[in-house]
Amino acid sequence: MRIDSHSHIFSLNGVEYHRGMPLLDYQKDIGVEMCGVIAGDDEEQELLVETVRRYPQKFYGIGYVDHKNLYPSLKKIEGYIKEGVIRGIKMHPYVQLFQLDDPKINPIYELALSYDIPVIFHVGWLNFNTIDPTRDMIADYRYSCMGFPVQFGNVMERYPKLKLIAAHMGGNYYFEMLAMAERFENVYLDTAWLEHWGSHRLPPVTVQEWIEHAVKFIGSKKVLYGGEGTVPEDVLKCRLTKEQFDDILGDNAKRIYKL
Ligand SMILES: [Zn+2]
Repeated sequence: MRIDSHSHIFSLNGVEYHRGMPLLDYQKDIGVEMCGVIAGDDEEQELLVETVRRYPQKFYGIGYVDHKNLYPSLKKIEGYIKEGVIRGIKMHPYVQLFQLDDPKINPIYELALSYDIPVIFHVGWLNFNTIDPTRDMIADYRYSCMGFPVQFGNVMERYPKLKLIAAHMGGNYYFEMLAMAERFENVYLDTAWLEHWGSHRLPPVTVQEWIEHAVKFIGSKKVLYGGEGTVPEDVLKCRLTKEQFDDILGDNAKRIYKL
């Protein structure tokens, strides 16, 4: 089974990087049977839950926790986890504004551990041009919340059994996150939107070179296919074995998310 472990519920009715196609059509078009859909706020989470309940063979949920309203938010997501609708938690310190190794965040990791579900992090510098004036933030603080490699190390030292997925292979922090995945048994990397950071490298690297490099050092069991512009064909162009393709394109997500 082919699984895209990194898609967003906001892409349900079409986004530019899916050529404007509704997600169900896009799945068919690229030959993916199931998508892990991510929610980035409470509103998206309600849509996610409704969608996964409606199409349980096509989607599974990767939910959202509001750290500013931590305990009610955890309680709510726990209900969805028990129901099997949500199977992972997405954390985006850069957008949600928290320090990922702040002990205040521990209850999120502890919930994930108690249900043995993974947490997936956005990792990688993005230059957002606009700062939302309706939110209580200043640019400097935002940049300090990006999720730096040392912070992931702190969390993994604290919770070595936590399954932690670094999206975008860590983006510009690739080498650090690769080393983290070598050091910690439960750190994984996903292939979402690799073209962006690959093209920004000097010299640029292709999606294929990047995936092959990661597999060489951490093995195919630690790399998950994630989309956002990366399609299964991109992975299939790599010089890998059939078993390695199967791991990356579906078996790893199936195992980690218990699908
Ligand atoms: Zn994403």
